[in-house]
Amino acid sequence: MTDSAQGRSILITGGNRGIGLAIAKSFLANGDKVAVTYRSPSELPEGILGVQADVTDEASIDAAFSAVEEAHGPVEVLVANAGITKDTLLLRMSEDDFSSVLDTNLTGAFRVIKRASKGMIRLRKGRVVLISSVVGLYGSAGQLNYAASKAGMVGIARSLTRELGSRNITANVVAPGFINTEMTAELPEETQKQYLASIPAARFAEASEVADVVRWLASDEAAYISGAVIPVDGGLGMGH
Ligand code: NDP
Repeated sequence: MTDSAQGRSILITGGNRGIGLAIAKSFLANGDKVAVTYRSPSELPEGILGVQADVTDEASIDAAFSAVEEAHGPVEVLVANAGITKDTLLLRMSEDDFSSVLDTNLTGAFRVIKRASKGMIRLRKGRVVLISSVVGLYGSAGQLNYAASKAGMVGIARSLTRELGSRNITANVVAPGFINTEMTAELPEETQKQYLASIPAARFAEASEVADVVRWLASDEAAYISGAVIPVDGGLGMGH
């Protein structure tokens, strides 16, 4: 499916692999101009512009945005996807384990959204999608840092909606459940089995299933949806 808003300048952070790359491919297939950030050089499919950026470093974000603006024009759709985990139980979690996850996942989202909002305000349109997680609202033992960072994204999206909603800018949160990527492949087999047992859909999802929802949130059809949390979790987090 395509929508009338094709040919837009799209930027996805952490789009060189996993869910971010699936999102990039989905927008590319829609006819948009797609750029992704990466940290270490990566091979990208033809048609996707790669720009180097670390979301913990404001200067590198600014340089990446300037490169995208030069090549594709101001960013109209921003997907804040870059994220890390440093899982461990509370009593073993160091302050650095906590703050480094917050710095990448939450402050990183703040940095890129702030940079993108300038162009969106000037354009008088924009779409922001934050990739959160089911555990942001559900909670997860051993992921206090990660869950806090992902719950914080809801506050960002809702405050952004109140600040910039009248300027034709929407901000939404997508909360994936268990998606087959490198991040989840690293989880112990026992943890994977426990998750599977609690997912009503009785399967894990593919990254493309998250990408479809992100692309739709950025489409004309979703113009009146803002400040929402959209789960893509096979029912795992129902009601949270
Ligand atoms: P991956 O680990 O496969 O990819 C993470 C991406 O984030 C990579 O592109 C990585 O870049 C990038 N990244 C990490 N730190 C930084 C940084 N400081 N600056 C810039 N980029 C950075 O993860 P997934 O694809 O699985 O996850 C993508 C998002 O979806 C994350 O926010 C994650 O929390 C969320 N999510 C994932 C779920 C899952 O089941 N997989 C479930 C729920 C949410 P690099 O290649 O350079 O390391």
